[in-house]
Amino acid sequence: MTRARTVAIAMAFLAVVAAGGLTGWLGGRALSEREQLRALDGEALRLIEKVELSIDHAITELTELRLMSIMECDSQALFAARDMLMARATFKDISVFGSDGKLRCRANAANLSENQLPTIEAAGKASGFRFGLPVGMPEGILSVRWLSGADGSLSATIGLDTFLYSFFPAEYRDHSSISIYLDNRHVLASLGDPRTLSAAPQDRRIMRESSRYPVSVRLAVPQAAIHDIAARNGLFPALVAALVAAIGACLGVWQLTKPKNPVESLAAAIAAGEIVPYFQPVVAIPTGEVSGCEVLARWNGPDGRLIPPDRFIPLAESSGLIRVLTERLMRDAIWELKGHVLANPGFKVAVNISPIHFLQTGFKASILGICRDEGFPEANLVLELTERQNLTEFAVAAAVAASLRQEGIRISIDDVGTGHNGLSTLQDLPGDIIKIDKRFVDTVVANKLSGDIIAMLAALARQLGRTTVAEGVETEGQLLAMAARGIDEVQGYLFSKPLPARDFLDWCAARKGVVPAQTAATESTRTAA
Ligand code: C2E
Ligand code: CA
Ligand code: CA
Repeated sequence: MTRARTVAIAMAFLAVVAAGGLTGWLGGRALSEREQLRALDGEALRLIEKVELSIDHAITELTELRLMSIMECDSQALFAARDMLMARATFKDISVFGSDGKLRCRANAANLSENQLPTIEAAGKASGFRFGLPVGMPEGILSVRWLSGADGSLSATIGLDTFLYSFFPAEYRDHSSISIYLDNRHVLASLGDPRTLSAAPQDRRIMRESSRYPVSVRLAVPQAAIHDIAARNGLFPALVAALVAAIGACLGVWQLTKPKNPVESLAAAIAAGEIVPYFQPVVAIPTGEVSGCEVLARWNGPDGRLIPPDRFIPLAESSGLIRVLTERLMRDAIWELKGHVLANPGFKVAVNISPIHFLQTGFKASILGICRDEGFPEANLVLELTERQNLTEFAVAAAVAASLRQEGIRISIDDVGTGHNGLSTLQDLPGDIIKIDKRFVDTVVANKLSGDIIAMLAALARQLGRTTVAEGVETEGQLLAMAARGIDEVQGYLFSKPLPARDFLDWCAARKGVVPAQTAATESTRTAA
């Protein structure tokens, strides 16, 4: 058990003991009327906090979904959204609307019928969100809409009515009315009828407004009910508080200690920025200049261990998380290297792209969007597309590759010689770079055939007007063999293993320092000084 879990269990235990103690102490005495009223106000406040918390959840989910391809109604993203809905009892529906306001698609967990579209009727504004009362839907439902501009909007529908039953004590429920309002005008959810209460001045009415969202809570409790409750015992507010504290503590422990499934863990790791870019240099032959690098994903685990990509990339691909993972990784990578690229205009940054992601609609737009957001020149970007996995929709892939190249982005075919399609991938998929797999490099010194294959691929690349990179170069012998066979660039442990950003930039700087002319100049300056 980790230290965090032990601490959490100890805290929960203390919370339960403290709650029990408080209950016992308060149970021994009746509460004054003032205390009762304060407790009533406390109930309204708790209810408002509960509503705010659900809206917070809805906003977090919408923000996350916006980064996934749900706006394009991608089926994998819709499935992921549906899983989110299932995991949250208050969620009913997540819908995507076009810029014309028409429904495009939805991930629906509550079988809401088509005529109950979440049409916004009343709204309040807060940082790009709108809150609405879905027309035709049963009371107790609030829709939170992300106004995402030109490409439409996303809306999450959440249920609020359950709170009234589960959080408001039975003693009040029997005599009182409770309502949640939107914009102080529209009833979102209510329990009891406010009109059945007399307008007698002794009736207690309490209103609490949220400071963050356009929602408010109103309670109306007859004086008699307060006296009833006070006469019976002053226990219930304390009991409720104690119960809520104990349940909250237990839920917290359960959340912390329950084993997460691997997809949840990966999603959490991506969101927490635990998937980090490492950089491996690519060196030009024969100049020895660092002409670029490859970005390789590493999972910086919470226990400090580094998890290699073959342990999580396949899961990211099968769960639909690969898009979010790659986009985040790419943003982080180009953010780290932007300064270096601007100072070294020919420097190429290669990012690995899974075929399943490459084929998603909106792929090109999202890549261009990242370059634009980060101010990174497209001409310095290389996308590596592996030949190892079968490219199912070849014609689509070819069209996407061609249109990316028009924007100046280079396409590199990775792991050439290991795929299903033989050399037809090279012929039919537009590209700029051919990456020769490590397995041919490994055996080049001992096996003549490997050397011949490399020479053949280098010749073919020239004929197609492409350059070649050989990866996995570990020895001087392999480097010489690559140079002899006309390979343009090399990458491998002979130069450096993949490094974190800071170390990589230091490595580049140190390598520049050993370029002969510069070394001589520096030496003479130092001697003169
Ligand atoms: P890859 O694209 O073929 O990457 C080259 C792999 O060879 C890297 O392994 C690199 O560390 C390793 N390598 C480079 N030079 C040498 C060498 O001289 N000797 C040896 N023994 N190995 C060398 P890594 O980083 O473990 O990545 C493994 C694979 O995981 C990658 O193969 C790529 O297919 C995948 N991958 C890594 N990052 C990403 C990513 O961000 N997205 C996607 N879709 N796939 C990724
Ligand atoms: Ca690669
Ligand atoms: Ca490779």
